[in-house]
Amino acid sequence: MSQDDDNPPTKKISKGINLLHDPLRNYGTAFSEEARDELGLRGLLPPRVFTQAEQVQRVLENFARKPDDLERYIMLNALSSRNENLFYRVVVDNIDKMMPIIYTPTVGQACQEYGHIFRQPRGLFISANDKGNIASILENWPHDDVRVIVLTDGERILGLGDLGANGMGIPVGKLSLYTACAGIHPATTLPITLDVGTNNETLINDPLYIGLKQPRLRGEAYDELVEELITAVQARYPHTLIQFEDFANINAFRLLEKYRDRACTFNDDVQGTASVTLAGLYSALRLTGGQLKDQTILFMGAGEAGIGIGDLIVSAMQEEGLSEAEARANCWFVDSRGLVVKSRTDLAHHKLAYAHEHAPVKDLLTAVESLKPTALIGVSGQAHAFTKEIVGRMAEYNEIPIIFALSNPTSKAECTAEEAYTWTNGRAIFASGSPFDPVEYNGKTYVSGQGNNAYIFPGVGLGVCAVKSHRVTDEMFMVAAKTLAKEVSEKDLDLGRVYPPLQAIRSVSSAIALSVAEVAYQQGLAAVPRPDDLLAYVKSYMYEPTYKKLTIDR
Ligand code: NAD
Repeated sequence: MSQDDDNPPTKKISKGINLLHDPLRNYGTAFSEEARDELGLRGLLPPRVFTQAEQVQRVLENFARKPDDLERYIMLNALSSRNENLFYRVVVDNIDKMMPIIYTPTVGQACQEYGHIFRQPRGLFISANDKGNIASILENWPHDDVRVIVLTDGERILGLGDLGANGMGIPVGKLSLYTACAGIHPATTLPITLDVGTNNETLINDPLYIGLKQPRLRGEAYDELVEELITAVQARYPHTLIQFEDFANINAFRLLEKYRDRACTFNDDVQGTASVTLAGLYSALRLTGGQLKDQTILFMGAGEAGIGIGDLIVSAMQEEGLSEAEARANCWFVDSRGLVVKSRTDLAHHKLAYAHEHAPVKDLLTAVESLKPTALIGVSGQAHAFTKEIVGRMAEYNEIPIIFALSNPTSKAECTAEEAYTWTNGRAIFASGSPFDPVEYNGKTYVSGQGNNAYIFPGVGLGVCAVKSHRVTDEMFMVAAKTLAKEVSEKDLDLGRVYPPLQAIRSVSSAIALSVAEVAYQQGLAAVPRPDDLLAYVKSYMYEPTYKKLTIDR
C-alpha cells in the first residue's frame, strides 16, 4: 500500500471550523464549492475559490515582503501549522530558496532565539522531570502511525553548541526535509526534544527560555532517561526509524553503539555527514583523476562528523583494495589541541584509530605543510580556520585542491566559497555545509556544491521506511554515497559543483531509497515482501503535497 492510499493515516476527518484548524487537511480558500457544503465550511471562508497555485503565489508574495530570513522562518512555520499541503507545495517547488530558511543556516538563528519567536508548540517535549512517565506522554501524540522520529537533546546544535530545549527547531526542520525531499508523509513524522537541562548560561538567564533551567543531566540518570524513551517509542511505534541528531560527542557515539543493533536507528551527524561527504569526494575525483585510496585526507575537527566521515572513507578505500590499517593511515585529524598523533595522551576513544606515528603538531598550517594532503575537510565549527596561507599551501601541493568547509551555519564555515576560489586561482573544488552564492572569478562563474546531509538522510529514510527495514546499516550509507555521486552530471562538474542541483532532490532521494531498499533485502532486514518493481513501489510511497478529495468518516 502506498502512503497516499491512506492519506494521512488513521486520523478521523473533522468538519467545519475544526477542519480549518487541522493543518493536515485544511486547504483553506482552495476548498471547492462542493466541499464547502459537504464539510460545513460555507461562510467560514471568503466566497472565491482559489487554486493551490494561486495560494502558492500569495505565499511567495508574503515571503518576499518579509524583512529578513528569521521572519521568513516564522512565516513558513505558521503556514505549516495552518496548511501542511500548501507549505510542502511551496517548499518542494522552491527548494533552493526554502531550504536555507527551514534548515541551515536560518534554523540555527531560530534555535538561538526559539524562546523569543515561540508561537505554537511543535513536536514532543520530554523533560528530565518526566522520568517514569514517558510511555504515557508518548500516548499524547495524536498520530498512531509514526514512521520517522528525529530526536535531539539540544547539546550540539549545528556548530552553535548547547541550545537546550531550543534545539527543537532542528528535529522539526529535519523532518520537514524528510517530507519535502523524500515524500515521507508529514503525519508520520515525530520531532522529539529530550530536555535534560542546559549548561548555556545565556539561556539560563533568559526569562523567555522554554526549557528546564537546570544543569544538564549526566551519567546514569541521563542514560536511564534515554533508555526509557527508546523503550517507550519501540512499544508504541515498533517499526519507527529513530534518527539521533545534534547530540554532543560524549553521548552521540555511545548512544549510536548502544542502540544501532537494538533499534532501527542512526546518527545523521556521524553517518549522514559521512555519506554526503564521500559522495562529494567521489565526484571531485572525476575532476582530479586518481582513486580514493590514493588520497591523503586531512580533517580539521575530530568529532562526530570528522570521525564518521573518516570511518566511511576507510571502508571505501578498503573496497578499492587497501587494508584497514593502510586506509586509516591516509586519514589525518587535527582537533582543538593539534594533530591527532600516537604520542598524545589526551585523546578521546573515538580518535584513537586515527592516532598515527608523527611528531606533535600544534596547528593546522604546520599539519598541512607536513602531510601535503590532497583534500582538506573542515568539520570543526571554527569560522575562518582555513586561512589564505593554508588554502594557498593546498594549491601549491595540488593541481586541483579539494577543500570542503562543512561547518554550519554559514557563520562557522572554515572559509567562504569566494576565498577558496580566489586563493587558489580558481583551481579548488569547493563544497560547504551551508550554501554560498555563485562566485565570479576571472570571468568564470563557480557554483559550489552544498554538502548538505539532506541529499542523504531523506532518501535513506524513504528506503528504510518503504521496506520496513529492521535496522539502518553502514552499507546503506555507502550505497547512498555512490548513488548520490552517480547523480552528478558533467554539467554540474563543469560548474564546479560536486553535488546535483537541489531541485533534483526528490528524484535523487528516490534513487537512494531504491539502493538502500536493495541493501535491506540483501541483508535480510526488510519486513515487506519484495515487490516486482521496487523503484515504482518506493515512488508510490512518496507523499505529494496536492489537495485530495476529502470525505467525512460517518
Ligand atoms: P563535534 O563537536 O562532534 O566536533 C567538533 C570537532 O572540532 C572536535 O573534534 C573539536 O576538537 C574540533 N575543534 C574545535 N575547535 C578546534 C580548533 N580550533 N582546531 C581544530 N579542531 C577544533 O561536532 P561535529 O558534529 O563533528 O560537527 C562539527 C561541525 O561540522 C559543525 O559546525 C557542524 O555544523 C558541521 N557539520 C556539517 C555537516 C554538513 O555540512 N553536511 C554535517 C555535520 C556537521
